[in-house]
Amino acid sequence: MLTRVTDNTSCYNLNNENMLREVTVEIGLERIDIQEGITVEALLDSRATGLVMSSEFARKQGFKLKKLDRPMYVRNVNSSLNKEEPIEHMVEVNIYYQGHREKTEIDVIGGQKWQVILGMPWLAHHNPEIDWRTEKVKMMRCPEECGKQWRSKQGK
Ligand SMILES: [Zn+2]
Repeated sequence: MLTRVTDNTSCYNLNNENMLREVTVEIGLERIDIQEGITVEALLDSRATGLVMSSEFARKQGFKLKKLDRPMYVRNVNSSLNKEEPIEHMVEVNIYYQGHREKTEIDVIGGQKWQVILGMPWLAHHNPEIDWRTEKVKMMRCPEECGKQWRSKQGK
């Protein structure tokens, strides 16, 4: 709804919490070391420049943390430095979603509201169609290698 300020009662609020849309998908995460899978609700967030897992969640689920060569400092959306510790670990997982399977690395960050966030690299790679009214996500525009990888893993 765009602004139509005709009287004092109608005003347009850019930060209206009720208007916020948080689109989540239920994905399968498989620990590569023991090939054990869990299901988790992941947030799709185009403001995240990577794939993120909450460190509390990673610890609770027993994910094997791999130490990064050098720590990475995190910036918030407003470009201030995140108060949390720098990213020092990541986990290696297979992500399953709507018939897609992908081996990837996820950065482990403390103090996260979400257990897993799929950021821009994932969104740009699979380029899913998001219906912002129903919050349904369809994987209709994946690159070819997505399907190929999946099929080759199925043996055909
Ligand atoms: Zn895909």
